[in-house]
Amino acid sequence: MMVVVVMGPPGAGKGTQAVRLAERLGLAHVASGDLFREALAAGTPLGLQAKGYMERGELVPDTIVVDMVLERMARPDCAAGVVLDGFPRTAAQAEALDQALAAQGKQVEAALYMRVPAEVVLDRLTGRRICRDCQAPYHVVFNPPARTGICDRCGGSLYQREDDREETVRHRLEVYLQQTAPLISYYRQRRLLREVDGTGGLDEVTGRLVRLLDEGVA
Ligand code: AMP
Repeated sequence: MMVVVVMGPPGAGKGTQAVRLAERLGLAHVASGDLFREALAAGTPLGLQAKGYMERGELVPDTIVVDMVLERMARPDCAAGVVLDGFPRTAAQAEALDQALAAQGKQVEAALYMRVPAEVVLDRLTGRRICRDCQAPYHVVFNPPARTGICDRCGGSLYQREDDREETVRHRLEVYLQQTAPLISYYRQRRLLREVDGTGGLDEVTGRLVRLLDEGVA
């Protein structure tokens, strides 16, 4: 099982690129934020537990997230491996992931860190729209669907996430800097960190990520 972690601030393009990378590599795409939004839409107890944190742009407690993601990774479609998107987000989550993998004689293959300047992040988040049905991400300017408001992939309707409003976005960025950015050194110390320039066109960035994984160079 190959486990690739995609990291970067909210709005770095993690979701968009993680899906593309998973398709190219034949791996499953596992996004903790998607799992929470699905649970919320389905009104499950997990969704209800996560709701308040998500609305405030805060992190859901580690144990809830870790259980949810490890359970997802145990499903058959993840047998070949996964591209993790939005997880781990804290040192405790990264340690729990390492422990769970180590128990199976495995480890994280690489942590791909997508670097983007702060002003790019804000533009990307405020223009983001996602599909209500399949959660495919779009951008009103940088990655618009063929028909306004309609998902290219499944025909579902597109909407703006509550937590993509500017006020919440600012808080999410602070949370990222405080709790998630330290993971960069966590993976660097383990020699797993690979940095990539996250600016530019979608295909350009996907190309850089694939090359990084293949050859260890961007
Ligand atoms: P995302 O779609 O990755 O931006 O996640 C949306 C929201 O889900 C976050 O703002 C958190 O409230 C919650 N969430 C997603 N992944 C995690 C995680 N790994 N740890 C804690 N909370 C998370």
